[in-house]
Amino acid sequence: MQFRAAVLNRVGEPLAIETLTMAPLAAGDVLVRLKASGLCHTDLEVMQGSLAYPLPIVLGHEGAGIVEAVGADVKAVKPGDHVICSWNPRCGHCFYCERDLPILCEPFTRFQPKGLLMDGTTRMTREGERVHHYSVTSTHAEYTVVPESGAIAIPKGIGFDLACIIGCGVMTGIGAVVRKAQVVAGSSVAVIGCGAVGLNAVQGARLRDAGKIIAIDPDGARRERAMQFGATHAVDPSDGEAAEAIRSLTAGRGADYVFESAGNRAAFRLSVEAVRPGGEVVWLGKVNVNEEVPFRWGALMGEKKIVRSSYGAAEPRRDFPWIVEEHLAGRVKLSELVTSRIRLEDINAGFAAMVRGEGLRTVVLLP
Ligand SMILES: [Zn+2]
Ligand SMILES: [Zn+2]
Repeated sequence: MQFRAAVLNRVGEPLAIETLTMAPLAAGDVLVRLKASGLCHTDLEVMQGSLAYPLPIVLGHEGAGIVEAVGADVKAVKPGDHVICSWNPRCGHCFYCERDLPILCEPFTRFQPKGLLMDGTTRMTREGERVHHYSVTSTHAEYTVVPESGAIAIPKGIGFDLACIIGCGVMTGIGAVVRKAQVVAGSSVAVIGCGAVGLNAVQGARLRDAGKIIAIDPDGARRERAMQFGATHAVDPSDGEAAEAIRSLTAGRGADYVFESAGNRAAFRLSVEAVRPGGEVVWLGKVNVNEEVPFRWGALMGEKKIVRSSYGAAEPRRDFPWIVEEHLAGRVKLSELVTSRIRLEDINAGFAAMVRGEGLRTVVLLP
């Protein structure tokens, strides 16, 4: 079959809307007709070259749509199901899958950076030439093929424009608090960086009945938004006294939990300065993998726990439907996160707005 997709042909160039061919489904494949796809900062990193992937590639990893067809042996979903794509499909039986760390699943980490599906091949071509899959999802397209473990059925009561963002930004933020750190009710929580992921860490902290929820961001509008998402206090780090401000809000000790979701050196340094002795830091953001980040050694002392989380310890088949239900019950905000809706043809304008730091999430709507 043929379908249209946004293709990255060269780093630094705009995406091109092209017609591609999808191979027939293999066993275990799920063909999804995409209805919505969110623009995530990680896509931009590939376009700008700070994250290297083989080209040409179809980006996008925050997608929702309808199952069009399934390959042999697929049991978890059927045609007509509404699904969110998981960008962390897993084999279920490797060293890491058996140790409850599917984010490190060995076939996933072997083939994902090569732009391949979990079987080490691709399904997409352009006039016979191989086109790569981004993070086994490639959702900036009318159709995608994902493995069964990447197709997560959800209740039908939610719009695709809101459902899609659960697939990355929402899961990453809420999951870091609820699943990874398992924040205890009454705790003090600081969130550094209040973009889409940080706001979801804030609303995750509210779901866990945290006591103080302190939002840290240099942008006043973002701090205000964080208050709407459940923060109890907001701190501007621009004056360099953020760690002191957080300590003064937490009886001089520092926060019980600090979630870093800004992705810069200052934020990583602040995260360990702002946590109390014995507290827990969860790093969600990232800098370039070859960049070095210096820390004041004393800030690392005091029995602090520092963990990295890429996908909020997601178990998508458990967590995506749960987040949908929490949204439908009014406890998780999604509409407020989608600040722009565009057509596939306008995707480059959407990424340009991201570069300018506008809005929270832009979602591509597909017919
Ligand atoms: Zn993402
Ligand atoms: Zn595995």
